[in-house]
Amino acid sequence: MNNSKLLEIFEKTDALLNGHFLLTSGRHSNQYFQCAKVLQFPEHTTSVCRVIADFFKDYNIDTVIAPAIGGIVVGQEIARQLNKKFIFAERENKDLILRRGFEISEGENVLVCEDVVTTGGSVFEVIDIVKSKNANVVGVGIIVDRSNGKVDFDVPQVSTLQMEVVSYIQEECPLCEEGTPAIKPGSRKI
Ligand SMILES: [Zn+2]
Repeated sequence: MNNSKLLEIFEKTDALLNGHFLLTSGRHSNQYFQCAKVLQFPEHTTSVCRVIADFFKDYNIDTVIAPAIGGIVVGQEIARQLNKKFIFAERENKDLILRRGFEISEGENVLVCEDVVTTGGSVFEVIDIVKSKNANVVGVGIIVDRSNGKVDFDVPQVSTLQMEVVSYIQEECPLCEEGTPAIKPGSRKI
């Protein structure tokens, strides 16, 4: 599936909105992105995860792991396509940890997956968990890389969609200068 076909899915499901937005960071942007809107639809989840499963299909993988909550849906689907075990890490007192009896054995080959990466913080944390078990990080698979390839996990990595989300402080926002109001995503239908 090519990038324009993918973008069409993201736009059709309102996962990618174009306009003038007030982000939670307080910055303004001409784009807003909510991956969960795509993942509502199983057939789209299958399509966007296939890019990652195909990339890693010849790698030696025992387990797929993802950080909760965003990564769970895509990690589960990628694991399903690769027919491998799937586990997730979740936050307890700000730290990502393994709960629910999930375990990683020494020498296990682990693929880390995530839905959206901006700075890669959660993925780096999961990589640390895998390394702390003396297991191997085989690679990283991401659905949307908002850093446009700038975040480097130092292992083979692939993303379904690469984009650069440009944002501005209000005083420097060209959309404000044009006089259109900034909308807080989710507060009304665009
Ligand atoms: Zn603005």
